[in-house]
Amino acid sequence: MWQCPKCGREFKNQDQNHFCIETPDTIGAYIEAQAKEVQPLLHQVRDTLRTALPDAEERISWRMPYDRQLPLDLIAEIAKWCYESLC
Ligand SMILES: [Zn+2]
Repeated sequence: MWQCPKCGREFKNQDQNHFCIETPDTIGAYIEAQAKEVQPLLHQVRDTLRTALPDAEERISWRMPYDRQLPLDLIAEIAKWCYESLC
């Protein structure tokens, strides 16, 4: 395991590429922390995930299993993709 020295998240791969963010309590808090341009896209993604995963709890806890939780890593990946396509 590798722990990012900036955000404290743990990953399987050394120097795993990720967004260093302060651990948000909710997906909504995460989205609010992103650039204004990508927020509408991320809200759409969240709504889509909510529809697809009606039982998922909108809570984030890095050290808990991901089942029953909306996958923030997926949202972070999509956020990255949004930034890349907007720039
Ligand atoms: Zn980090």
